[in-house]
Amino acid sequence: MHCQRCGAALQETIVDGRARLSCPSCGYIQYVNPVPGVGVLVEHEGKLALIRRGHAPHKGDWALPAGFIEADESVEQAAVRETREETHLDVELIELFGVYSFPEGPPRSGLIIFYRARPTNPAALQAGDDAVDARFFAPHELPVIAFRTHREVLARWLQERHEPELAEATVGHPPPEVTVRAAEPRDHYRIVELMSHMPARTRMSDIARARAFARLRESGPGAIEVWVAESEEYRQASGWTAIIGFVAVAHLDGLNETRAWLDAMVVEPDYRRRGVGGALFDIATRRARERGASQLLLDITRASPSAQEFYRAIGFDGGDVSRIRLR
Ligand SMILES: [Zn+2]
Repeated sequence: MHCQRCGAALQETIVDGRARLSCPSCGYIQYVNPVPGVGVLVEHEGKLALIRRGHAPHKGDWALPAGFIEADESVEQAAVRETREETHLDVELIELFGVYSFPEGPPRSGLIIFYRARPTNPAALQAGDDAVDARFFAPHELPVIAFRTHREVLARWLQERHEPELAEATVGHPPPEVTVRAAEPRDHYRIVELMSHMPARTRMSDIARARAFARLRESGPGAIEVWVAESEEYRQASGWTAIIGFVAVAHLDGLNETRAWLDAMVVEPDYRRRGVGGALFDIATRRARERGASQLLLDITRASPSAQEFYRAIGFDGGDVSRIRLR
């Protein structure tokens, strides 16, 4: 790299406590700062306009209309311009929604200033610029979203529209390091606490809690088997327990074949969509196979919409009692 002022070769030096390239000849210091961009939540009749990306990165995925701010325009002008270029919609900005950073790239560090807006010509929606498609999506129809910042913005937008399940499904997180082990008596309190996150159990009665504790005391090989997933990250965050989820499997020995019943699987809300359910599901199927079960059954109607989506994604068929073949 050469100095953009005098052309001398730049050298790495420590400036303000960081390694930066600087010029030994004229003293120029090459600061690297985030690039500012703008993104727009275009709302129309409860739906949001998204564009399908025609180029890398994330070609084929959907995103909010967004782009970089030109040097000769204001943030607001950039928001209106980018929306028009990518969707053919003319918008009126409603409010500033938030500022989101992406120090990780791609490829350079940046930040995006997001606005809510309404279109004055909603019927004009059409892919423009380098987008290959543009559509309005209802909250429950949202597709895979390309960028972390856009996912976080959408998750917050959905939260504010009282769609916590959808919000959770929208935000992608890296999987935490998880260890799975058989549940022990000291885990029972935490397991019952996690049960309150099941949709059918949000107001768990004292009787239901007592029953759950009784069943857990009887648990073990030969009866209902329970495993827990632990994360050190969560132990530090919670200050008392590392358990972020559990799975309970009952084995039904029939005259002709053994079936396994996936009785309950719960993951701490902050850790959903991060592979914890997959790790618990793996141990459930492995144990069911070891016990000679030919099928794993599940009452899918008791699961939340996002859990139902998870179960279908890992291979459970449709129907109220859903099953997966083990061999
Ligand atoms: Zn120089």
